[in-house]
Formats: sequence, C-alpha cells, structure tokens
Amino acid sequence: MATGAAVTPSPVSDLRSFVEKQSHQHILDCYQCGKCSAGCPIDYAMDLGPRQIMRYIQMGLKKEVMQSNTIWLCVACETCSSRCPAKIDIAKVMESLRILAATEGSPAAEKNIDLFHRTFLNTIRQYGRAHEFSLAVAYTLKSRNIFGNLGAAQTMFTKGKLVIMPPKVGGASWVKTVFSKAGSTGPDVSAAVKTEGRH
Ligand code: SF4
Ligand code: SF4
Repeated sequence: MATGAAVTPSPVSDLRSFVEKQSHQHILDCYQCGKCSAGCPIDYAMDLGPRQIMRYIQMGLKKEVMQSNTIWLCVACETCSSRCPAKIDIAKVMESLRILAATEGSPAAEKNIDLFHRTFLNTIRQYGRAHEFSLAVAYTLKSRNIFGNLGAAQTMFTKGKLVIMPPKVGGASWVKTVFSKAGSTGPDVSAAVKTEGRH
C-alpha cells in the first residue's frame, strides 16, 4: 500500500505513462490475445472488456477509458492477471484507473457505483471483512433505492447469502489500522504524475 503524501495533480494527459508508473505494469507488452476478457466474470456487463481497456490505454484514449463503466465494475478478482501470458497484472491496471478517476474527480459511468464502493469499504473497515447484510442495508438507505434493491435482497436472503449478524474475524483491528493509514495519506500518485509524459 502506498504511503506517500496524497497530491492533486493537474489532469493527466498521457494515460499510458500514468498507468505504467502507478501500476508498475508494461502496457505495451499486451499483444491482444484476449485471454483476460475470456476469463473475466464481469466482461459481459462492461462497456470495454479488459482486453479493450488495454488497447485503449496503448492508444492513449483517455476519455473513452475514463468514461467506461469497466473500471468501476471490475471486482479485482485477478482472474485476468492470472491468465495473462504477458504477465501483466491487469487488476492493478484497473486499480490505477480508479485512483486516477478519484484523483481527477472523473464522474463514474455507473450511477451510485462510487457510493457502493465507499459503502463496501466501510463494512470492511468496520468488521474486518465484507458483511453483505450491512452492505445491503447501508447502500439501500444511502442510495434511497429501497424498492429497487428489495428483489435482489429477498433472493439473497432465501439463498442464505445474507447473514444478519456481522462476522467476528481475527485481525479486524489490524484492518482498521490499515484503513486509517490509507485514509490519512491517500493513494500516492506523485511519482506517476511527476514522470507522466516522459515516456
Ligand atoms: S491477457 Fe494479457 S496479453 Fe492478452 S489481451 Fe489481456 S492483457 Fe493483453
Ligand atoms: S480483476 Fe477485474 S477485469 Fe480482471 S477478471 Fe476480475 S473483474 Fe475482470
């Protein structure tokens, strides 16, 4: 996890340079085999699949990448990273794009997706791991979409996926410490921004 001071850079003009510095991945190593997209469990819902995101970054199509819903729908499962024959950690690339969006204040393509992310992280901060019931309640109240989420909640409940009591997990206080350190510094994008444009 980054520990440097958070900075607010001027808008990044060279997307590839930023992503390479932030994620430590070589974007030009991607030769478009498509294994990442073929394995991605969310590809069907994405505007641009992981393979396309890689190509668009290579081409410097920042607006298209940042306006896609892909970076917010990616659940960081790392299936793509484990399948890539060029050894590119695509999940890290996605993370660097989310950092860039948060740093520049790019609006998320999916309604309430940033609210969902923040609520999800809050439950982890609170309990040390995800707790679907707390997440569902908090997200439903904050998004004011009570009836829209009821159907999904009901299905999850009948399938035993919604456990009311939060879990007791070891290391929960350690997770809180990680969050408080990350919260006080924010992602360190200074190196990526400083060298952006020199590639
Ligand atoms: S699996 Fe790797 S090389 Fe293949 S398209 Fe995806 S990022 Fe590119
Ligand atoms: S990490 Fe993101 S892009 Fe990669 S397979 Fe998982 S959901 Fe898809």
